Amino acid sequence: MATGRIAVDQPLKSPGVRALEDAFHRLVELSRGEAPPPLALRLDRLKRLKAVVAANERRFEQAISADFGHRSAIETAVAETMFVLTEIGHAAKHLKKWMAPQRIPTALQFAPASNRLMPQPLGVVGIIAPWNYPLQLTLAPAVAAITAGNRAMIKPSELVPRFSALLAETIAQKFEASEIVVTGIDEEIARAFTTLPFDHLIFTGSTRVGRLVAEAAGRNLTPVTLELGGKSPAIVDASADLDTAAQRIAYGKLLNAGQTCIAPDYVMVPEAAVDDFAGRLHRHMQKMYGTDPDNADYTSIVSDRHYARLEALVTDATDKGATILQPSSPTDPGWKGRRKFPPTVIAGATPDMTVMQEEIFGPLLPVFGYRNAGEPIAYVNAHDRPLALYWFGSDNAARDEVLARTVSGGVTVNDCLFHVAQINQPFSGVGPSGTGAYHGEWGFRSLSKLKPVFYRSRFNRLADLYPPYGTKIARLMKVMRLLS
Ligand code: NAD
Repeated sequence: MATGRIAVDQPLKSPGVRALEDAFHRLVELSRGEAPPPLALRLDRLKRLKAVVAANERRFEQAISADFGHRSAIETAVAETMFVLTEIGHAAKHLKKWMAPQRIPTALQFAPASNRLMPQPLGVVGIIAPWNYPLQLTLAPAVAAITAGNRAMIKPSELVPRFSALLAETIAQKFEASEIVVTGIDEEIARAFTTLPFDHLIFTGSTRVGRLVAEAAGRNLTPVTLELGGKSPAIVDASADLDTAAQRIAYGKLLNAGQTCIAPDYVMVPEAAVDDFAGRLHRHMQKMYGTDPDNADYTSIVSDRHYARLEALVTDATDKGATILQPSSPTDPGWKGRRKFPPTVIAGATPDMTVMQEEIFGPLLPVFGYRNAGEPIAYVNAHDRPLALYWFGSDNAARDEVLARTVSGGVTVNDCLFHVAQINQPFSGVGPSGTGAYHGEWGFRSLSKLKPVFYRSRFNRLADLYPPYGTKIARLMKVMRLLS
């Protein structure tokens, strides 16, 4: 673990749009001019990426913490460093198998012949990342790009300048500019980035910006993977143990102070249990993070603008009649001075409250009641399809009804967040919460061209299809119809 200088005072210099375009065209030229990187080179790139993360773990942790105001070191280790190292280790172990052309059955009428599905690098992949898990969301897509044999350009977020400078520095130490480039972070670069005709673009960020990115990419017919946000519901069934559900939801909400794309955004509980459940949530939040804003486990809000946005959401909910449970007021200088937003339960939330109309992305948790099991399903289906959905209970029939009748990016049953860490499962949204998928082999497949190849045999009868069409084609068509 390196303990060297922390790049906190070195802003990432923008290379300028012209330099960005030159770097991009160079990558494209190489990707067209050179043979696809063999297994050994891809494994070597993964090894170098691992070295970037492992050798600079402490520096990344400190740079991210400085960017946030404070970021829990444990949360950085678990949700960023370990996450990326797990992706790298898994990919290194399975890459040989992923890269092998896959045998595909041949329909009888084309026999004797064979089919193979051949994975190929797409070329140059663009990666645009948000600030909330800056290491995970720049480098997990980079792992997918490397395994699939692509070159990559990474555009980190302008809200984490120290992290971005450190990423650029450490990537440049281990990678040639012909392999991976970390660009500047200013607005001009962000906009220019999306106009480049990448072979694939992975964007992680808000639904609003995702729409702009998809529009810009569409002009080049650049395929996109969009990992977006939205309001992810938690449904507490009548069969649930309220205290266990409250504890697990409190954890899912307060990790990274709620600045998590798949954090539970609001909770629906049986109507009679709203106050009881809100009280349990409040108590579990205090048990986990205490009442002292100086708690090192509790992460700061990334900017004053976001802090003010969260304050306004609470004020609006209060004005509209919600009951607010907080260890302290967000205006308290001890909290506000550290940009730590007090964990806030909003009991009795209603649809007219702003907190129920936009993604919260902070430690506020609205709770409201439902009268029958159909209501939460109808509520979810009346809104944008969410990135995640959480269901708590022991009634399997009720659970299966929710699973069958709602569509979301992913689901964790009887807990929060953990579906994102299942490396053998795809991670993705659906519709307004995203499109395309990655993690593990799913990332390899998303960033490869899976090219179907048909190998004709010397002995098959395809020549019978050629004109002049005589009786032989009639015979062949009869056989084909019989087989179809
Ligand atoms: P954002 O959409 O504001 O920014 C994301 C990235 O896009 C940043 O790098 C930003 O500089 C860049 N950007 C901004 N405007 C752009 C433009 N016009 N053209 C090109 N790029 C542009 O999101 P954010 O505030 O950084 O992150 C929070 C959002 O990200 C939340 O909505 C959250 O749910 C979502 N998110 C989703 C996932 C996921 O995996 N689905 C993960 C983390 C965060």
